[in-house]
Amino acid sequence: MTTPPRLTKIIATLGPATASRKGIKELAAAGVNVFRMNLSHGRHDLLRQWISWVRQAEKESRTHLGVLLDLQGPKIRVGKFENGFIELHRGDHVRFTTEKVTGRDGLIHVQYRNFHKEVRVGSRVYLDDGNICVHVTEVNGREVAAKVEAGGSLSNFKGLNMPDAAISASPLTAKDKRDLAFGLAEGVDFVALSFASSARDIHQLRRLIRNAGGDAEIVAKIERKKAVENLEEIVEASDAVMVARGDLGIEIHLAEVPIVQQNIMRLCAVHCKPVIVATQMLESMISNRRPTRAEVSDIAQAVMNCADAIMLSAETAVGKYPDAAVSVMSETARKMEAYQRQHQRILPWSWYFKEDPPINLGITYSANRMVELLNAKALIIFTLTGGTARQVSGPRPMVPIFSFTSDPRRARKLTLLRGAVPFLWKQKRDFSEDVATVFRILKRRNLLEKGDRAIITSGIPIGIPQWTNVIRVEKTP
Ligand code: PGA
Ligand code: MN
Repeated sequence: MTTPPRLTKIIATLGPATASRKGIKELAAAGVNVFRMNLSHGRHDLLRQWISWVRQAEKESRTHLGVLLDLQGPKIRVGKFENGFIELHRGDHVRFTTEKVTGRDGLIHVQYRNFHKEVRVGSRVYLDDGNICVHVTEVNGREVAAKVEAGGSLSNFKGLNMPDAAISASPLTAKDKRDLAFGLAEGVDFVALSFASSARDIHQLRRLIRNAGGDAEIVAKIERKKAVENLEEIVEASDAVMVARGDLGIEIHLAEVPIVQQNIMRLCAVHCKPVIVATQMLESMISNRRPTRAEVSDIAQAVMNCADAIMLSAETAVGKYPDAAVSVMSETARKMEAYQRQHQRILPWSWYFKEDPPINLGITYSANRMVELLNAKALIIFTLTGGTARQVSGPRPMVPIFSFTSDPRRARKLTLLRGAVPFLWKQKRDFSEDVATVFRILKRRNLLEKGDRAIITSGIPIGIPQWTNVIRVEKTP
């Protein structure tokens, strides 16, 4: 019996806990598909080394590994404190200033030039991932006075959120542009844009990538109220979407985050765009070997709703048990997928139906339906641009999508897509010959066995991008 590959992809954030040749190899062995480099931390010379280790791990394994560069965006942070931190108590009065000073008791430096212009009396300001909350009582020049609502200890460079303010800063800061140029030069596969708020932001990033001659795909991070309002246009403009629950949980009411997550998943499925569920998935494993039941349930829930990828942040970047965290994710996903194979059906055609549906869409949807009707073990596709892979994945099939492409950079972009298992293979002129070869490869890899049914789609004539007009049913020889 062959074991079906895991459909849900795993993203791991690299950091001091794992960023070594050995650490990366171990994460890949544990099941990581995409490595995330968080530009909120980390220097270019270090990141360059990390990327080269990922490429090396890829070469040594028989899989493809993606690299995701996560741009910091206009993340607002406080400055430094004389003693490294201050204590805030409920009822205390504190002052914020945008002047470059060292903070001390009662005084906080904010590293955002327009802070005093964008908050109003009554605005809430959150500090340290929302743990601390203050209300603005007075704005006076570059100084902002506030009263502490929920206290705590605030240390150097912690994040600051102001959900009530309309932040004017472009989501592409000067630092982001430098980081982007670096990432493109290193050939990263995906670039994530933090705090995106509209399709315009995505278009701007796409222009920068094109102008640099890059081909990186864009992941829009939904973590702002504005982004939630503009969800559909953002999904349409981007190549993938991340439910960035960390900042989102501060910028909107925390109790609404699951609903927004659900909405994003649905929109992404309809638009055939990969979706990532991120942040605090295994938070307790930063310091404990075993996760909480609630965390395992959260992962299972994301898998049940057919997220393309689930992400680890601090768990692998600075946590004590990075490999174990990946294993927990991987096992939980596999168990849930086995259950889904018994019980879950593809999404209804009505979700995709258009007045005059493109031929591609009819074919890729029908291939999904055939898998169910004929109890097939796999979808097999040939894809030039990756478009067919995305479209086949849209209705959320419960079988792997063995995706043959001739371009190694394209193969890596499939690492984020639910179910896609990329293979490098250049299609020949003769379709039957291709099919025979593909089965040989899949059998040798133990992914299919004699008698297994597979649904194959292709475009004939061969070699036209976005052209899929043939479905063929085959039994593995
Ligand atoms: P971050 O983004 O980890 O870069 O802040 C993810 C999130 O906010 O959830
Ligand atoms: Mn964030």
